[in-house]
Amino acid sequence: MNKSLNVIVIGAGICGLSSAIWLRRAGHAVTLIDREGPGAGASFGNAGLLAQWAVVPVNTPDLPVTALKYMANPRSPFFMQWGALPQLVPWLVKFVANSRPARVQHMVSGIAGIVTDSVEQHIALTRGTRAERWIANSDLSYVYPSRQAFEADRLTWEYKRTEGFEPELIEGSAVQEAEPMLAPGIGCLAVLKGHGHILNPGAYMQDLARVLEDEGGRVVRAEARDIHIEGGQVRAVDTDQGRMACDKAVLAAGIWSRPLMNKLGLKVPLVAERGYHLHFSDPSQMPRNPMMITQGKFAVNPMATGLRCAGTVELGNADKGPSRRPLKHIARHVKRIFPGLRHAGVEEWMGFRPSTPDSLPLIGEIGQTGVFAAFGHQHIGLTAGPKTGRIVAAQIDGQPPNIDLAPYDANRFG
Ligand SMILES: Cc1cc2nc3c(=O)[nH]c(=O)nc-3n(C[C@H](O)[C@H](O)[C@H](O)COP(=O)(O)OP(=O)(O)OC[C@H]3O[C@@H](n4cnc5c(N)ncnc54)[C@H](O)[C@@H]3O)c2cc1C
Repeated sequence: MNKSLNVIVIGAGICGLSSAIWLRRAGHAVTLIDREGPGAGASFGNAGLLAQWAVVPVNTPDLPVTALKYMANPRSPFFMQWGALPQLVPWLVKFVANSRPARVQHMVSGIAGIVTDSVEQHIALTRGTRAERWIANSDLSYVYPSRQAFEADRLTWEYKRTEGFEPELIEGSAVQEAEPMLAPGIGCLAVLKGHGHILNPGAYMQDLARVLEDEGGRVVRAEARDIHIEGGQVRAVDTDQGRMACDKAVLAAGIWSRPLMNKLGLKVPLVAERGYHLHFSDPSQMPRNPMMITQGKFAVNPMATGLRCAGTVELGNADKGPSRRPLKHIARHVKRIFPGLRHAGVEEWMGFRPSTPDSLPLIGEIGQTGVFAAFGHQHIGLTAGPKTGRIVAAQIDGQPPNIDLAPYDANRFG
């Protein structure tokens, strides 16, 4: 172990909480700050899937064709805040450029490096603590209307197979035997066995914050306004509660990491992929396992407090309120695929996936400043957060882990 350092972690989502806990376990003095308290961002309302199989980025080689099809279809699962288009164009150009086959294989391997052992990583983070009760083992089914629709999704499965994910197919009436709440018209499930999900992401974040405190870390409500660098090295974080001195800092503020990176003089192309959930309380039916609804592009998760349906992509800003169309889109598909579902109430939510144009996060030291990035996890942050935290803690501790960290290089955007 390095000498004990005074470390400030900015942002108490899954990435910040995991970094803080692993840093504390390495013997460092850790202060985790969040302007709203733990789990206020995307980590609160996500679909809760430990998506070990989610190795395929959105920008695959068929992206240009799919995007055109989606734009021509008013009922597609893709939405855009058109007013934000001028700011999005530079990011979109890079995002599309990364959909070349060679780049996609690079992204698939990079994503696989941080997601495929997710359940094990969450268990390691929480073993013997109050937070372990939120982790469940499960299978995951991709829900297709027919075998033909599954076969049309061949490109995604080809990439998944390169990382060892081979689905088991269930067809015909066996679909409704496996998941009785699915509508009769659903004809094919592609099942991936042996994964996991979180039973209540918001409560999980709250408990992880308590775990940090139980183990001697501090959780403080404060907003980071700047990172104070002197002689090329971080010396303090400036917050609305005053200047907090530190030896090292971890930037894990999700989509809001971008303005703090700008203050460090780095322009990271990070945009908000806005996503939504409908959370049904007291549902009359629950699926046996989580599912991905391929036609609607959202996930369904049986949680401790009800049934959560979460997903869709709306490109836009992080400073604008929710749109109605993505929520209506999820509601319409829920009605169609779960025709017998009744419920007592429904909660609506929107959150921001922090997304880079190469679909890979930034993990590691920014220059030689002593500031470490732990953000940019797009669709897989809950899955990859604990491993990200472990990597960052090991780096700060001077013991880099034995995996290729080049894909996540925090300086790759210049
Ligand atoms: C609809 C939807 C469904 C999803 N489903 C899944 C899923 O099933 N599985 C999966 O793996 N991922 C999923 N994701 C993605 C995942 O939720 C995110 O990648 C992940 O939560 C990002 O975590 P984070 O810690 O980087 O950021 P966040 O959870 O957004 O946390 C950032 C924190 O930083 C704080 N903060 C911001 N600025 C400051 C500041 N200046 N000072 C102090 N604090 C600050 C915020 O208050 C917030 O608490 C989903 C996302 C969405 C939107």
